[in-house]
Amino acid sequence: MPDEMARRLILERGDGGARHFEDAVPDPSSPVIGILGTGDFSRSLARRLVASGYQVVVGSRTPTRFVALFPEEAEVTTQLEAANKADLIFVAVYPEHHSTLMDLKQTLAGKTLVDVSNSLSINHKGPSNAELLADYFPGSFVVKGFNTVSAWTLQMGARDGGRQVFLCSNSQTAKNLVKSICHRMGFIPVDMGLLSSSLEIENLPLYLFPSWRLPVLCMLILFIFFYLYNFIRDVLYPFITEHKSAFYKMPIEVVNVTLPSVALVMLALVYLPGLLAAFLQLWSGTKYNRFPNWLDRWLLSRKQLGLCSFLCAVLHAVYSLCLPLRKSAQFKLSNMAYKQVKKGMEDSWVDEEVWRMELYLSVGIMALGLLSLLAVTSLPSVAGTINWREFSFIQSTLGYCALFMATAHTLFYGWNRAFVLARYHFYMPPTFVLVLVLPFVVLLGRAALCLPCVAGRLRKIRRGWERNRHIRFMLPAEDCRNGVENVSNV
Ligand code: NAP
Repeated sequence: MPDEMARRLILERGDGGARHFEDAVPDPSSPVIGILGTGDFSRSLARRLVASGYQVVVGSRTPTRFVALFPEEAEVTTQLEAANKADLIFVAVYPEHHSTLMDLKQTLAGKTLVDVSNSLSINHKGPSNAELLADYFPGSFVVKGFNTVSAWTLQMGARDGGRQVFLCSNSQTAKNLVKSICHRMGFIPVDMGLLSSSLEIENLPLYLFPSWRLPVLCMLILFIFFYLYNFIRDVLYPFITEHKSAFYKMPIEVVNVTLPSVALVMLALVYLPGLLAAFLQLWSGTKYNRFPNWLDRWLLSRKQLGLCSFLCAVLHAVYSLCLPLRKSAQFKLSNMAYKQVKKGMEDSWVDEEVWRMELYLSVGIMALGLLSLLAVTSLPSVAGTINWREFSFIQSTLGYCALFMATAHTLFYGWNRAFVLARYHFYMPPTFVLVLVLPFVVLLGRAALCLPCVAGRLRKIRRGWERNRHIRFMLPAEDCRNGVENVSNV
């Protein structure tokens, strides 16, 4: 199939160039394909169909006007003639113009109509364009499909676009016919069932990162919060108390303290809902109670939260590498060296500081490495190559390792500064103290779940055991019909 898509498309009418498509010669056994409409989609589709060896007939309100835009192999004629000649018809006109095709009702009866239309906005209530088309043409078999494929993809081949074509119809025969056309054009048909799925298929191209909204919003809110917090502590505080201008810190230093804070809190937010779910199951003694909606949505957003955390961590690494390049850092360094010489100090080596920095950097690099692994394995193409146990080992066990390393990275950064009162500017604790709260809660929660008594009970619950489920045996004397003894609450 890829070879078919890689094939060069047919030349335009009047190109004068030689045509080299042996496959473009129509196969007499294959159905004649009609297209109603002569717009962008119709032109691209006609070319791809001709290149795939189909006989194509295009129906237009004004055939002579657009005939030059189609390949010579395609016949451009009136809508009625096209509907008459074709076995299967692609309706490549906007849905608001579907009703103008009503004159063709008799001619299209018993034929397959493929509705390729998209809506302008997401339609939650229905009916879909395809269902409306089916109402207009009750004698035809409507198939919804190809609306997620752009005219560009049709022209360029599947290498430059999505290869999947979502199809649905109430007629299995009509759907199978469209499936075979899909295959021959180099696309992969995805059967979405009955025509009632058409609303979902029509909404597919209109969604704007639906699963990313909450995680990105969360990341932005955290970023703004920590940025303002760091700004007050690191820029405003010296300005108010010592009249020292530290506003130069705003573009890089403040951002670089904010990014790891967001990254660590977001990473903790990836693992917190799993813990909440586990504790909820332990508390209710069953896995069959539904989680609250907010927890369900949170659990479903974990991948996106993790990827946002990874993005912040990568940006933090890049910002950190750029720190020595700044003029302010170079001036500070030369000033310190000058002061040292002036004081007659020869060696500025502080053992404790050296160790702190070595450990801080080492665990930071490890945390970033593990986060990269988690990010890579969250890609569907990679996740598809590993089994469920491998996936959960990477995402859960290595994920907790990444959280542990990132927490250690922050602890080494803070060292003993949490206990230095002078660090509490405006009575605000240093940022790392604030940031560490959630990861500590998550790591302690995880450790609690690892306790044998808790882990054993959770394992039982997850295998279907329920605390409140009692076996009832009824005594023949009391209220029993089947001679079953009542030994409830055993
Ligand atoms: P277009 O370029 O505007 O073409 C629409 C065609 O509809 C016109 O060329 C016209 O052809 C025909 N038509 C029939 N009755 C009409 C009427 N009463 N008023 C106006 N035009 C009428 O649109 P398009 O981009 O090809 O899109 C066509 C359909 O494909 C739409 O439903 C769209 O949602 C869907 N689609 C398009 C793309 C894409 O990439 N363009 C992708 C997926 C789906 P005649 O004048 O020759 O009759």
